[in-house]
Formats: sequence, C-alpha cells, structure tokens
Amino acid sequence: MTDLSELYQAVILDHNKHPRNFGEMGDSTHQAAGHNPLCGDRIQVFVRVEDGIVANIKFAGDGCAICKASASLMTEAVKGQPLDEVERLFGRFHDMVVGKDEGQDASELGKLQIFAGVRDYPMRVKCATLSWHAVRSALNDAGTASTE
Ligand code: ZN
Repeated sequence: MTDLSELYQAVILDHNKHPRNFGEMGDSTHQAAGHNPLCGDRIQVFVRVEDGIVANIKFAGDGCAICKASASLMTEAVKGQPLDEVERLFGRFHDMVVGKDEGQDASELGKLQIFAGVRDYPMRVKCATLSWHAVRSALNDAGTASTE
C-alpha cells in the first residue's frame, strides 16, 4: 500500500529467509520451547546469561514468516541487554502488537516496529510474540511457552 509497508515486508522476508542467530547453542544457561498451535509455529530459544546480561541468544525450529522474522529480530534486540531490559522490551513489544501502546514512543523499539501492523491480524499476534514468550519462559526457567 505504501512504500513504508513494502519496506517492512522486505525486512520480514529477509529475516525469514536469512534468520539471524539461528541454530542450537551448546553452552546455553537457559532454554525454552515455544509452540503456537493456531499456526503450527514451533521454536526453541537458547540463551546464555552472564552477569545478568544476555551474552548470547539463538533460536531454532520452524514457523511462518512472521514467527521466524520476529524471532530473528527479537534475538538481535535482546542480545547484550540486561535481563530487566529484556522484560521491558517484551512489555513494549507486546503492547504494540496488541494495539495498547497509545501514548508510548515506539521509536525505541527500532526495527521491531515493523510488527506494529499485526495488531490488525489477531491470528498473527501469536506468531509475532511466540519467540518473546519463549525467551521469557527460558529466563524464568519455565521450560515451555505456549501462546494458548
Ligand atoms: Zn505463525
């Protein structure tokens, strides 16, 4: 529709085709699996925490383009961040994709803003948030995450 949404689509397609931080991690300190039964997305998130900071993060598995691109961008966003910042970003991202971010400055979400459009597609919200739920479960040692 607009140049901007074409750009966003290009970023999603790029991250779907060439996901960043993709693969398993042997020396993770935390991990969790995420499953979105509505779409069939299944991913695993591996995190290595050092001194309260996400020293490394990877994801594996398979899902739709939104799910994989979101997981890819999530890993880029949280790598190097302190754990409380991961929690805060999760909250901001979640608010944005469910359309509850009125009055908040979205620019601090950087590239993650490309998922703002999923608020118009409730089925897709779970695809976009699955990796975030998984990383949160991993850090809380819950082990599994489901969007149900
Ligand atoms: Zn999906």
